Amino acid sequence: MITSVLVTAGPTRERIDPVRFVSNHSTGTFGYAIAEEALRRGLRTTLISGPVSLKPPRGARFIRVESGLDMRAAVKREFRKHACLIMAAAVSDWRVRKPAMSKLKKGRTAPVLRLVPNPDIVKEVCRVKKDRIVVGFALETGDLVRNAGTKLKEKNLDLIVANKLGKRCDVFGNGIKEITLIDREGGRSFYRGKTKTALAKIILDKILGHKI
Ligand code: C5P
Repeated sequence: MITSVLVTAGPTRERIDPVRFVSNHSTGTFGYAIAEEALRRGLRTTLISGPVSLKPPRGARFIRVESGLDMRAAVKREFRKHACLIMAAAVSDWRVRKPAMSKLKKGRTAPVLRLVPNPDIVKEVCRVKKDRIVVGFALETGDLVRNAGTKLKEKNLDLIVANKLGKRCDVFGNGIKEITLIDREGGRSFYRGKTKTALAKIILDKILGHKI
């Protein structure tokens, strides 16, 4: 039985220098909605969050992180203590190889940023997941189901939430969403015109009902 859940949310910030960073548009809304719903269902809930402007849900253990490497350390520390991981965070795929220790000065030439890949956190923890349920997210501009299905297999996830990014689908923030849930048996369900709060309920029903 699942009695505890670890949720990650929000973007990560990858430092360029002490005042600048590389990041993405994630607002954390989906992960926070899932944590709220888990709390409503009486699950022991830990939320690891990148920098967002949302209030931490009451009753959750809350861990604030900044970079992808911080998030990785926190997930690795917490993973074993929970029956389920929902990895809704938009971890930056790259970080700056050598962040500057002091503010870069504006000169005549622009600095060139050397990026290196961040470790794939969910893939790493799935290597030692045993009977834990792990849910990942995918954001795709094209070939949504195929690309998300490939990620599900590559990362050894139990369920993937595939978000479509398109002209009519505002994936960031709290607008109406279009998602496909894909499970490891290849089962698919499609949802359109629902808020993230409604989708959080659907995702938790699926996890707690063990239909994955
Ligand atoms: O970036 P990508 O599309 O591969 O992300 C899919 C899933 O992998 C998401 O659940 C995301 O949180 C996770 N991820 C991760 N570590 C990364 C990049 C993504 O755990 N460095």
